[in-house]
Amino acid sequence: MIIVLKPGSSDADIEDVSRRVRDFGFKTHLSKGEVRTIIGVVGDDRAKEQLLALQSLDCVENVVRILQPFKLASREAHPENTQFKVNGVPVGGKQIVVMAGPCSVESRAQLQAVAGGVKAAGAHVLRGGAFKPRTSPYAFQGLEEEGLQLLKETSKSTGLPVVTEVMEPDKVDVVAEHADILQIGARNVQNFSLLKRVAECGKPVLLKRGMSTSIQEWLLSAEYVLAGGNPNVILCERGIRTFETSTRYTLDLNAIPVVKKLSHLPVMVDPSHGTGHWEYVAAMAKAGLAAGADGLIIEVHNNPAEALSDGPQSLKPTKFAQLMGELRPLAQVLGRTL
Ligand code: PEP
Ligand code: MN
Repeated sequence: MIIVLKPGSSDADIEDVSRRVRDFGFKTHLSKGEVRTIIGVVGDDRAKEQLLALQSLDCVENVVRILQPFKLASREAHPENTQFKVNGVPVGGKQIVVMAGPCSVESRAQLQAVAGGVKAAGAHVLRGGAFKPRTSPYAFQGLEEEGLQLLKETSKSTGLPVVTEVMEPDKVDVVAEHADILQIGARNVQNFSLLKRVAECGKPVLLKRGMSTSIQEWLLSAEYVLAGGNPNVILCERGIRTFETSTRYTLDLNAIPVVKKLSHLPVMVDPSHGTGHWEYVAAMAKAGLAAGADGLIIEVHNNPAEALSDGPQSLKPTKFAQLMGELRPLAQVLGRTL
């Protein structure tokens, strides 16, 4: 349920209604828009009669049942776009955010070379995997804690905030100490104990869509993080499995306008995993922005031919810089900045 307050309601009104709701045993989530304040109410729907009675209060315009199963992630509960900053980098607003870096952190020299390149080209956030979810147990599994340290060190030297994946609930604290955004990978989008743990970590979460999750399932995963008290969730479309084999996955660009309609959360596109081939990355990065994405996450490697993971889909720094140059005028046409 949501409680829509009348325009001009005072802080005392908001507190009064929130306290009544909490006294009924519900949790409240406040969404203060420019005109209206909405109090999101989560708890047992069977007690909704008590909430409906709040319509009699002077400051309450309406008490509405949220139809979507994802409550806090829905636009009904929070009509305005979610916006926040990660170490000064705005996410979810007019500015498009570009996260770039290697699939895996491989060494200090590699990370520094790639970070320097993506920063010079105008990326806002450095990506790099320290814990890698590999399909084969014989493939490179990541530098783990050493990788986290290299990310932190490179973040300090470049000033770029860092996004990196966390795969296990027990590693959330150590990853949160070293990173600015915690990535939940496609394979873990429905790892509910991990989602509950990252909800408590105090850092923004980049939630990738699973390769076989529906949009509704994906938004319900976001709901776990929001309901656990973390409002800073970024969704990331990274391709789904279809019958097509020409590309690694099928980047579902339909999902961008659909999710933008259903949810207030920022949405990004990952054209690297979405295609699996560096030659297609630029086209799908542009298409992602044209579809309304708030940002991109792109794999860049200084020597893709020798990369320990995802070399075939990684751009060289020069190609990445060229793409950034092509995205700038596109952003302008779309009424955004880059
Ligand atoms: C990655 O970002 O390198 C990664 C493993 O992504 P995904 O979870 O989307 O496969
Ligand atoms: Mn990768």
